[in-house]
Amino acid sequence: GHPRPPAELLSPRDVFIAVKTTRKFHRARLDLLLETWISRHKEMVSPQPTHPLPLPTGNVVLTNCSAAHSRQALSCKMSVEYDHFIESGRKWFCHVDDDNYVNLRALLRLLASYPHTQDVYIGKPSLNRPIQATERISENKVRPVHFWFATGGAGFCISRGLALKMGPWASGGHFMNTAERIRLPDDCTIGYIVEALLGVSLIRSGLFHSHLENLQQVPASELHEQVTLSYGTFENKRNAVLVKGPFSVEADPSRFRSIHCHLYPDTPWCPRTAVF
Ligand code: UDP
Ligand code: MN
Repeated sequence: GHPRPPAELLSPRDVFIAVKTTRKFHRARLDLLLETWISRHKEMVSPQPTHPLPLPTGNVVLTNCSAAHSRQALSCKMSVEYDHFIESGRKWFCHVDDDNYVNLRALLRLLASYPHTQDVYIGKPSLNRPIQATERISENKVRPVHFWFATGGAGFCISRGLALKMGPWASGGHFMNTAERIRLPDDCTIGYIVEALLGVSLIRSGLFHSHLENLQQVPASELHEQVTLSYGTFENKRNAVLVKGPFSVEADPSRFRSIHCHLYPDTPWCPRTAVF
């Protein structure tokens, strides 16, 4: 839902944002994020020793996860994200993909309206009904489960209070075993742990956006309120937010540079309109 009045004061350092990426997307996708939203909040993106990426404060976690787009490889990355969040001591864990723009002011406003010590799981479901899965409960016993989950491609956040309760199924590599129990992708596994195993309900927010929805429907006048945006393809067509300028669609196909200038007009590389 829409942000409620603040329940607590939140600083950028209270939020741990993990951006999932892979080597082949470093140039094509991550550079764009580094120039846009990450440049404003370097202190928010995870804390760790670094490697060949232009992240001055050391924010890259090199995982030993396979570079494949397999369910196992992606669960492996989620398990690393989770462990680093717990280690960080921060109040909120947010996961996004490397084709997400994060509007940090809107994110902080949203999270500040919930207590981080309580059970909070917030994001946007990609299905309009709970997912049906088969849970393996022992060697030769299965049972049906159904639960809601927030789609990873739109980003989602989890309070520290809830993340700590997820430990037995998520920490230290347990996440991968849990994912194998239902044989579903990493974002579904998060929903399984939170909803099916812990009995906590997903809070739906219309402020998170993936490229699995028509991004042209996000009103340009409401960009300031949106928490995440994306770009890519949807039903085989180019899918991006409709924002007029300042950059052309050719120069800025994702629209992230234009969105960034819209949200942070004082950015040095944003064309400036004359101010008298
Ligand atoms: N990804 C990854 N390893 C891969 C392929 C993709 O970690 O082998 C990550 C990618 O960087 C992105 C997310 O998984 O953060 C989703 O990938 P993509 O946007 O290409 O696919 P989608 O699921 O949106 O179609
Ligand atoms: Mn994607």
